[in-house]
Amino acid sequence: MSSMELILAQPRGFCAGVDRAIEIVERAIAQFGSPIYVRHEIVHNRYVVDDLRAKGAVFIEDLAEVPRGSTVVFSAHGVSQSVRREAEQLGLLVFDATCPLVTKVHIEVAKMRREDREIVMVGHHGHPEVEGTMGQSDLGMYLVETVEDVINLKVKDPHKLAYVTQTTLSVDDAAEVTAALRARFPDIVEPKRNDICYATQNRQDAVKFMAPQCDIVLIIGSPSSSNSNRLREVASRLNVSAYLIENADALDPAWLVGKRRVGISAGASAPEILVQQLISRLKESGIASVRKLDGVEEHVQFPLPRGLGGNEERGSSISTHDSVNSN
Ligand code: SF4
Repeated sequence: MSSMELILAQPRGFCAGVDRAIEIVERAIAQFGSPIYVRHEIVHNRYVVDDLRAKGAVFIEDLAEVPRGSTVVFSAHGVSQSVRREAEQLGLLVFDATCPLVTKVHIEVAKMRREDREIVMVGHHGHPEVEGTMGQSDLGMYLVETVEDVINLKVKDPHKLAYVTQTTLSVDDAAEVTAALRARFPDIVEPKRNDICYATQNRQDAVKFMAPQCDIVLIIGSPSSSNSNRLREVASRLNVSAYLIENADALDPAWLVGKRRVGISAGASAPEILVQQLISRLKESGIASVRKLDGVEEHVQFPLPRGLGGNEERGSSISTHDSVNSN
């Protein structure tokens, strides 16, 4: 095993939306004291959630669990309009950690609805981002995951349709599904810019570049993390053995037998410390060298909400997203 080489994807790990969401919870705890309630896992990573819980965050799924007058943070995945209304009715102080790139999709939905279009969402059933985005439309939306779903889709008026997508889809799968939508509904209105976010795109591109150089790819991320699962799939589709692991403890040494080049990346919600722990563990197994690949350097930052040291206004962050997605 001593001739084994470790290859690190660039970029990997935290995106700007995750950085911001974690900072919102930390600042809310510092400013208002614990407990700070957080609706749903702030980001889909066990390490992050456990760390914030230890600092005073209380994670809940239903706002009914939050005592009146408390402070609540909405997770990076976003929430439906009905959850916003419920928070208002309960008199909760809300800090919204919805990623501005998810908010951009919500704003698109509102515009499409004003044009009286029915909306198709391309996304994964049951994912909180999908629930939040679908909950932006008073009359609901159609959810499609696959080309087959598109074939079976029944709409009221094929000439009054629009679509949006989840931000963390497989770029390749989404391209197939949206091509099927355009083929079946030629008048369908597309999002102004791709809804798949810069972080998802960059991390998938980086794994596509890395995987052919590897005998095995390890992705650090939680099983509930959509973008982390997609990274594993990207490597796997290039016929490289690929595993999604929560941390170094989940590494099975048997996977490494006969492997000379081990590629590592991490989902957008996975902290770099977990990557470093995995590298240390692999070094104990006799990794000879570590090679960091070249890739996109990201300099994206999102403003914090007003009231937590930032001056974000709902509209002001949109120009930031647009320039981000045009990268
Ligand atoms: S993965 Fe993309 S959409 Fe999700 S939090 Fe990060 S930047 Fe925002």
